[in-house]
Amino acid sequence: MPHSSIRQGYATLPSSFYTRTQPTPVARPELIALNTALAAELGLDAAWLAGPQGLAMLAGNQIPQGMDPLATVYAGHQFGHFSPQLGDGRALLLGEVEDRNGHLREIALKGSGPTAYSRSGDGRAALGPVLREYLLSESMAALGIPTTRALAAVATGERVYRETPLPGAIVARVARSHIRVGTFQFFAARQDRHALRALADFAIARLYPQAVQDAQPYVALLQAVVAAQAALVAQWMLVGFIHGVMNTDNMAISGETIDYGPCAFMDTYNPATVFSFIDKRGRYAYTNQPTIALWNLTRFAEALLPLLAEEDGQAISLAQQALGAFHPHFHAAYFAGMRAKLGLVGEDEGDETLFKTLLDHMEAEKMDMTNTFRALSHEEALRGPGLPAGLPASTSPWLARWRARVAQQGSADYAARASAMQQVNPCYIPRNHKVEAMIQAAVKQHDYTPFREMLSVLATPYVEQPGMEGYTAPPTPDEVVPYTYCGT
Ligand code: AMP
Ligand code: MG
Repeated sequence: MPHSSIRQGYATLPSSFYTRTQPTPVARPELIALNTALAAELGLDAAWLAGPQGLAMLAGNQIPQGMDPLATVYAGHQFGHFSPQLGDGRALLLGEVEDRNGHLREIALKGSGPTAYSRSGDGRAALGPVLREYLLSESMAALGIPTTRALAAVATGERVYRETPLPGAIVARVARSHIRVGTFQFFAARQDRHALRALADFAIARLYPQAVQDAQPYVALLQAVVAAQAALVAQWMLVGFIHGVMNTDNMAISGETIDYGPCAFMDTYNPATVFSFIDKRGRYAYTNQPTIALWNLTRFAEALLPLLAEEDGQAISLAQQALGAFHPHFHAAYFAGMRAKLGLVGEDEGDETLFKTLLDHMEAEKMDMTNTFRALSHEEALRGPGLPAGLPASTSPWLARWRARVAQQGSADYAARASAMQQVNPCYIPRNHKVEAMIQAAVKQHDYTPFREMLSVLATPYVEQPGMEGYTAPPTPDEVVPYTYCGT
């Protein structure tokens, strides 16, 4: 691949970690989208990627020399039930490149055909979910939230059969690492301590090299993953993101948001919000995400136990200590984020109540989460005494308390404080009804204009863009799209 040397890091692990697999060629590949900014970040030649050889690679039709694609194996708790063997059923790791910051980044294809781990699946992806993943992962990146990225989307020119025949597509996904909690669980369940150690050493070298210096590197790895996940989920909560399938095989050790399936952002603030059609009991509801993250991290810690200490009791106590840091990390990140969203400087013991009162009020009044915080991010809103546009009159008592707290600490330059708030309170999120409309246009009319426009608006989510007001509007009652699907 021109301009960046491909490496095979994961392939240096023992062969029990993966199955070498070639993608299955597709009929008529067509480039839907190429992320030229990301290509540049990765040192890849965008013109080459968009050309015949690049397209052949992105479609899985011809893999360049030096790449040896592989499907990785993992296990995972899906909705709380353990599956001892899952794996990349429709994805292939092509290799790794060193990015501009000197970090290795893995490039994978999703939807590239069956693998040894496909079970009854066809190894393919439908266009709708591919566009959702592309748009939502790029939106998360633009919001500043750790995530896998989308390098390209390719239409295959073939149909995939779900409930109905649908156009097929492939997304090229980039991640610092695709290692999941479930990857550790796979080897732990087999009591393969040798493989577990190799995996932990690989993860440390790749993602948390400072852990090597620690007297107990595997404890340090666990601590680092706990901290990364706590910070990640705090960021999700601050923007109203709902992952939708937080199974342990969909949680990356790197702390990147991974596996965009039935995910969505909530409009009206309601902690019980669930989008995923299959999540009947709301296990992965918005408000449960921190608890589930800790549940998943507990499974990670269990998998690591044999490496933490020779003696079981000591290993368990080290694991418990590391897991005990989740809540403090989460709360520190979440409260710092809320203070920034509300333009608060310093800390006050009344802050948590101030946050909770606002959220309860937003829930009771069925207020739009994104627009509420954005409405507060203006000099006049900070200064008062009026009611910011779009907020119900019943917000006034809370506004008075908030303004008193704003005035208590920090500079009197409210213009500067409002502008700082606008850097953390997005104007644009990928609203689910807009995402669905974008998908319908692509699937039914072969029209990618909404996809392109939305991608461009979401690339600078903190900047108001004239003419793009439609993307800030919550859905009208008949526009609401209450469910999302895995699309698998
Ligand atoms: P998910 O929860 O969507 O991440 O998927 C769970 C497992 O199912 C993973 O191991 C996937 O690789 C596999 N899978 C999902 N869709 C397909 C498909 N169409 N063909 C084969 N495997 C699939
Ligand atoms: Mg998955």
